[in-house]
Amino acid sequence: ISKSQLDKFKKLIDEAKNIAISAHINPDGDALGASLSLRKSLEKYGKFAEVIQISEVDNYLKFFPDLSQYKKPSLDEYDLFIIVDCSEFDRIDKAIEICEKSKNTIVIDHHKGGKIDTDLNIIYSDSPATCELVYEIIKRLKLPIDNEIATLLYIGLVTDTGRFLYSNISELTFLTAAELINEGADYEYVYKNLYQNKEISKLRFENHILSKVEFNKPYALVGVSKKMCEDFSMQMGDSESVVNMLRDLKGIEVACLIKEYDDGEYKISLRSKEWLDVSKIARDNNGGGHIRAAGFSLYEKNMEDALDTMRKILKEAIDD
Ligand code: 5GP
Ligand code: MN
Ligand code: MN
Repeated sequence: ISKSQLDKFKKLIDEAKNIAISAHINPDGDALGASLSLRKSLEKYGKFAEVIQISEVDNYLKFFPDLSQYKKPSLDEYDLFIIVDCSEFDRIDKAIEICEKSKNTIVIDHHKGGKIDTDLNIIYSDSPATCELVYEIIKRLKLPIDNEIATLLYIGLVTDTGRFLYSNISELTFLTAAELINEGADYEYVYKNLYQNKEISKLRFENHILSKVEFNKPYALVGVSKKMCEDFSMQMGDSESVVNMLRDLKGIEVACLIKEYDDGEYKISLRSKEWLDVSKIARDNNGGGHIRAAGFSLYEKNMEDALDTMRKILKEAIDD
């Protein structure tokens, strides 16, 4: 992050009395961690700051500290609006109306190829997590931090890097993790809740999805219907872990999970391991993301058609 970006950030928050923060719809650990940590730091700095709730929170994230601050906004315009963990206005869903009325706007993000223009864009697509960027801002501007803020930032770092595994991590990521632990991040609480707390019923659901996977090296493809979720009394979000499991298999470069939503919408999740740029596939289909994790929506008559479309898209991308 450049010195001039930091100076501008400081100027914009100092000028603002009230600040709204929004992350992308269906927030993940990084989106929630970045927005809630920044909110609390700004509040301790003396601002009225709120995180705007635009989605239900998936069950696996309900352990989040300070989650009660992800809530309906109390104002309909703010002096400053900060978008975190996405670079597209339409990914903040209905918060866009509040954003448009607000005086100034900032984006802090690490996604590739987003088209957005605000008063201050802090966008580094090499960064493994928005939380790493938020921590750098807090640290260099000497904004307040406490053990809860550190824990929130730590969650974003751990989830977006796949527990410090993915290719976009750097020395800085480990240094950031160390500094966050030093600031009181409760990593045992985080690990226990994220990785050692799975319901057996969820394992059975995953097991069922895994039994439906189409393996066609180097890709693996599977669809999850609304009916499958109903049959197992699960949320669609409970299927998401499967795409990472498939990507991790020997001989599989790219894994694709199709999730059925309402009105013919099929949400595609893509994960790759070594050489396929899935963010390109996503951008070509009006979505986005990172080289190794990206997504977009398809609109199809039924799951069979969605699977067929994905077979074609994957084959083309692999042969390219
Ligand atoms: P996931 O597969 O976990 O839903 O998403 C993986 C990555 O792709 C995330 O970084 C997410 O922000 C991005 N992504 C997923 N769906 C979409 C989409 O519809 N549009 C855009 N721009 N990005 C998406
Ligand atoms: Mn995210
Ligand atoms: Mn992220």
